[in-house]
Amino acid sequence: MRTGLGTVSVIDLEKQAHELRSRIRIAVLSLAAMGLAVQILGIYSDATWHTLKYTSDIKIDADLVATGLDTGAKEAGFQIGDRLIAVGDRQVATILDYRQALNHQKRDSWSTVVVQRGDEVLELVVLIKAQRLDLRFVVRNLLASAFLLMGTLVAFQRPRDRAARLFFLASIALGLYFALQEKEAVGLVYLQAVALTVAPAGALHFFLSFPEERWLVRSRWWPLLYLPSLALMVLTLEAFAQAVEAGTGVFWAPRYRTLTTVGFAYLLCSAAFGLISVGYAYATTPLSLRRRQLQWIMWGLACAIVTSTADMILTLMEMQSYEVWGLVLLGTVPLPVAFAFAILRYRLLDVDLVVNRSVVYGLLTATLAAVYLFLISVLSNALGMAAGTGGYSVLLFFSALVIGILVNPLRARIQHLIDQTFFRRQVNYQHALIHWSQELSTSLRFADLAKLLLQAVPRELMIDRAGLLVLDDEEAFLLPLSLQGGEHGSPSASDTQLAISAHSAIAAHLLRPGMILYLGTERERTEPHGAEGVRGLRPGDAPPAWERAGFRLVLPLVSGGKLVGIYLLGQKLSGDIYLRQELDLLRTLLNQAAVAIANARLYEQVHAFSQELEEKVQERTRELRDFVSVVYHELSTPITAIRGYTALILDGKAGSLNPKQTGYLEAVRRSVRRLMRLVADLSDISRIEDGRLTIHPEPLDLSVAVAETVNSLSDIIEEKGLQLQVTLEAEATMVQGDPQRVAQILTNLVSNACRYTSVGSKITISASRADGSAELTVQDTGIGIHEDELDRIFERFYRSSDPLVQAHSGTGLGLAITKSLVELHGSHLWVDSILGKGSTFGFSLPLATLSDQAERQAVDER
Ligand code: ADP
Repeated sequence: MRTGLGTVSVIDLEKQAHELRSRIRIAVLSLAAMGLAVQILGIYSDATWHTLKYTSDIKIDADLVATGLDTGAKEAGFQIGDRLIAVGDRQVATILDYRQALNHQKRDSWSTVVVQRGDEVLELVVLIKAQRLDLRFVVRNLLASAFLLMGTLVAFQRPRDRAARLFFLASIALGLYFALQEKEAVGLVYLQAVALTVAPAGALHFFLSFPEERWLVRSRWWPLLYLPSLALMVLTLEAFAQAVEAGTGVFWAPRYRTLTTVGFAYLLCSAAFGLISVGYAYATTPLSLRRRQLQWIMWGLACAIVTSTADMILTLMEMQSYEVWGLVLLGTVPLPVAFAFAILRYRLLDVDLVVNRSVVYGLLTATLAAVYLFLISVLSNALGMAAGTGGYSVLLFFSALVIGILVNPLRARIQHLIDQTFFRRQVNYQHALIHWSQELSTSLRFADLAKLLLQAVPRELMIDRAGLLVLDDEEAFLLPLSLQGGEHGSPSASDTQLAISAHSAIAAHLLRPGMILYLGTERERTEPHGAEGVRGLRPGDAPPAWERAGFRLVLPLVSGGKLVGIYLLGQKLSGDIYLRQELDLLRTLLNQAAVAIANARLYEQVHAFSQELEEKVQERTRELRDFVSVVYHELSTPITAIRGYTALILDGKAGSLNPKQTGYLEAVRRSVRRLMRLVADLSDISRIEDGRLTIHPEPLDLSVAVAETVNSLSDIIEEKGLQLQVTLEAEATMVQGDPQRVAQILTNLVSNACRYTSVGSKITISASRADGSAELTVQDTGIGIHEDELDRIFERFYRSSDPLVQAHSGTGLGLAITKSLVELHGSHLWVDSILGKGSTFGFSLPLATLSDQAERQAVDER
């Protein structure tokens, strides 16, 4: 047995990692804030971009010659071939000049555009409007926000996880790419080019580290991944810079457009790589949870790839239209949605801790508030129409009241649904804890505890194994508690290696409240477990058997400042790391389990003590019984001799006796008879107790048995002048019973009736037929039995304290033996008595059938 483990060095990962984590988090938040700022800038730019009223676009070439016009532009007087010269009072020479001039005009004001048509110079009057913010604008910004938010949440939650950080990077790049699409402001276009070229490399990098890390990301050469992006970025930026220099911007820059198409194709390729890599992981993983997570990502990626490829092909064939654009955007929407679903519903990347109830409820409340307001406005409009225009605020108030009442049940229902969908595990945790607490509070035995901690808990939390060490009686070792034994006395051979000394260094460490130690490989140890107080253990600090047995978590059970147990847990079946809720749940549970263990130790001690006592009592009783049977044998021989010789002398076989001698000898005979009865009773009772007394039923004639009984008691009957009445029904005389024992039963009952009766009383012995058996009763008109004693008279050695009873000698064994004998005959002895009036004892015996009797006769004849 290992008694000491040397010094245990518990690495305080929390402290070391804390600073790094917060630094990464700050970086993540700053980048996210910058991303958001850029998006807002994009929205602002879109919102303030000016255009001509009625013209969604005038297509112009690099020389500002109109090459395409929509109906609005035609109505305003433009013609194909017009060359734009000035807007308002600003001369324009390049496309960028023209756009800037437009933006320079006041919104919603009338202005002029000067065009050259052939040799003519015309001044066309136009209305300057803000650019229309269409559906594309909304969807693009939603997509961008979704990527930004998801990336930030994931990286914030798991700052030290490489995959999470890469996910963040790729999400930011994609978000910016979507947010900055179709922008015309020069700075934003540069940014978009950067985003577009970085996004594919970021995505590639992410898919190389998720779901499994592949060779490249593990080597020093991972920056190579970004080289193509860098090259593409430089080319794209340069092409755009030239277009700006030429004054065309994105509107007429063929090289820039080609390069962005290449960038987009690169993005598609990285998405396709992601699909393949995730698909491979999906096909090879044995974990069902992981499969469900990956399935969603595959769906999202596939949708985005298919629609974007279609878009690219159509663009290359110059067939792209407004409808195609809408389709592309719609096709991209499932990507963030699928990621979000995989993250929220299936805990991919573990952000469900951040996106907790409050966020979901916040969204829900906002949605409900919107529905609520909408309904109010509808209702108050309807009511307002019906009631005329007056009293609008009163109407509003009542509408709000009505809707409030109607919406509330709906809200509860939705809340319930959300709980069911997203927080099912959490809800189950609560149920489990309540259930386990109840079980712990009532369990007093180690067996119950073992069942709960070794079976129920790991099953519910889906953990592959669990072990429990419990402090031994001497408080020297923590020994494994096994399920079968339930006692910590006999751990199995393989289990013994798990045991540790109660004075080892690791035991001392575990005494710190709320401490959880983590065993495992280097990588697992350095993972942040999302919970406070979780420490990693250096390999070798814990008994090697713990790790060999597949345990990962070590949790202490501390009660009254003493380490009463250690709970060991293996890995989660899903392969996930332990979540904070799970660790918190375990801590709460183990606090109670520690108390339960302390109780169980006490209980076990008391139990062992009482068992010891019980054994001792049994041993003594056995000895006593043996003594009684020895006494019986030793006494019966001399007593039989005394009885025999007394009878011989009384019969005059040794000469004639004078009356005095006869009187004395009669007294000797009575005493010997009593002595014999006493010894026989003692022997019977001891044989009844250890089950050695058996009966041999046979058909017997009750009239004979009764006659013999009465005969043996004739002395006392005569002496007390008792009236005896025997009424045996003819059909109830032949019964099935052990003749000797039935006689003993009758003798006991009739003898009691004779003794506890005053002179001249009446005794009735009767037998009547009832349901295939003979009912026998012995009735007397004697002293009767007190109501409180009716149950007790059948106990061994019980005698009434009534002086009338005490006046007679007796052992208190008669009824106890009689009762057992009756029960051996398959019946039960009952009593009915009124104090001072008399008692009736009764029992039944099965009637002997004719075949029983024939059989008996045959035996006799032989
Ligand atoms: P014992 O007669 O030796 O005292 P029993 O077991 O036969 O022992 O009876 C137990 C007690 O039940 C008696 O002491 C007496 O108090 C009560 N008892 C038994 N039979 C009768 C009866 N027929 N009438 C009144 N009391 C009775």
